[in-house]
Amino acid sequence: MAEKYIRKKALPLIFCPGCGDGTVLNIFLRAIDEMGIFKDLALVSGIGCSGWLPTYLQADVLHVLHGRAIPFATGLKLTDPRRKVVVFTGDGDCLGIGGNHFIHGARRNIDLTVIMMNNGIYGMTGGQAAPTTPLHSRTQTSPYGNIEFPFDACELARAAGATYVARWTTAHPRQFLQAIKEGMEHAGFSFLEVFSQCPTQAGRYMEGTSDPGELLALYKKRAISVEQARKAPDQDLSGRIIVGRIYHSPEKKEFSKSLYESFPAQATNNRHHP
Ligand code: SF4
Repeated sequence: MAEKYIRKKALPLIFCPGCGDGTVLNIFLRAIDEMGIFKDLALVSGIGCSGWLPTYLQADVLHVLHGRAIPFATGLKLTDPRRKVVVFTGDGDCLGIGGNHFIHGARRNIDLTVIMMNNGIYGMTGGQAAPTTPLHSRTQTSPYGNIEFPFDACELARAAGATYVARWTTAHPRQFLQAIKEGMEHAGFSFLEVFSQCPTQAGRYMEGTSDPGELLALYKKRAISVEQARKAPDQDLSGRIIVGRIYHSPEKKEFSKSLYESFPAQATNNRHHP
């Protein structure tokens, strides 16, 4: 897999040993290999540890400004609708500075696949509280415990208009691989949240362990399927990670189709338009 897709000059990976972002890279490569779509890909990423992920691939990659991956990807998709455009982002990049772009991308239902690695903290900048940091967690900026409520990114995506929404963790590689394939096959805004362990910051400060194996075991212990969660009382879901396909609505019209239908001359003039 590495021989086929990795840009060797870019190695070594920037990720700390045991970081879940390496697992996400591995699973993504397996998914696109099974789909046979590498040459059609365009990959866009924002800022943060997760933003480095696509830069190691021999693909067309845009590593852009903090929080701005979705607007760049939107322009790219509209210019070249044949491309499979995938956005790699982190919870800080996507829900903090990029939060507004995220909800509007979902609202438009533009055909992007957004893979958001959620480590619950700002990892690259030293472990500050992020929009996903659990309540009461200790971080560098919440030494007495976080007093802010975290976002539920999947509920936010769904409420904003995303038409495929799934959540997994790096302890569920097979299921996440399947979700990547489903998300990329879906014609519309697909949002894939993956809990991805950060041993260096989140592990050390929030979980009390930097051992990646222990962090993966915690993900497994906390995971509850969407189906089980629907039957469980709210108080039983505190601290749990609801995993599975959360929402899928293939009927809603995709944005680039609507745009080119409204302005057919633009489609004729666009040499990339199918
Ligand atoms: Fe991964 Fe955390 Fe290290 Fe960033 S700081 S590379 S998220 S382990």
